[in-house]
Amino acid sequence: MSTRVGALVPAAGRGERLGGGTPKALRPLAGRPMLLRAVETLLSSTLVSQVVVAAPPTLVEVVSQILGPRVRVVPGGAERVDSVRAALEALDDDIGVVLVHDAARPLTPAKLVDAVATTVLDGHPAVIPVLPVTDTVKEVDADGRVVRTPPRDVLRAVQTPQGFRRDILRTAYANRDLPVTDDAGLVEALGVPVTTIPGAEEAFKVTRPADLVLAEALLAQFAPGDGQR
Ligand code: C5P
Repeated sequence: MSTRVGALVPAAGRGERLGGGTPKALRPLAGRPMLLRAVETLLSSTLVSQVVVAAPPTLVEVVSQILGPRVRVVPGGAERVDSVRAALEALDDDIGVVLVHDAARPLTPAKLVDAVATTVLDGHPAVIPVLPVTDTVKEVDADGRVVRTPPRDVLRAVQTPQGFRRDILRTAYANRDLPVTDDAGLVEALGVPVTTIPGAEEAFKVTRPADLVLAEALLAQFAPGDGQR
């Protein structure tokens, strides 16, 4: 397996739950687009040698201008899986390890990127960062009636970047009709073991308006003046 690591960033979502009209990845956070922050973190890792971004199809040029010449930008698709697949096809041939990272996790620490990549390079075919869940989680039926309450101590909330051997991710994406909400879900369906490592609280996904407030507050605390850059 080649040890060259590439990172894919699906950034083609509309971000309807966040409101505001602009595609989520381009929403500014303390003055700079979330996507730019996520990409800069990936580029800051000495292990990552290529970054490919899937952008909203009408904004490929705009996103490319924002991210600069080190980043390849391709048109994303209707669903997240379509965007990841488009980015996967644009990776250099000699990339052996692939990280998939949401644009919507702009405060992810670089050390989490390194930890995921290192764990794949150490021989684990699929690696995901996780945190314990704090809320009790219920399974419900179509009428909203509770079917089951899984014990909380065996549940984990899953973050990105998720890391994979490239051949395994490519095979998993050949199975695209499976209804999964993360990349590791497709890999699990192949029967490939998925390894968990500790996630990071700052790697939370900006989904709802309150998440933007939290992200801006954390940036102000950790990098005062960052919004001026
Ligand atoms: O919608 P959600 O918050 O789960 O999206 C996670 C990531 O997937 C975001 O970075 C979003 O831009 C991306 N996405 C995409 N193409 C889509 C839908 C979502 O690249 N069609």
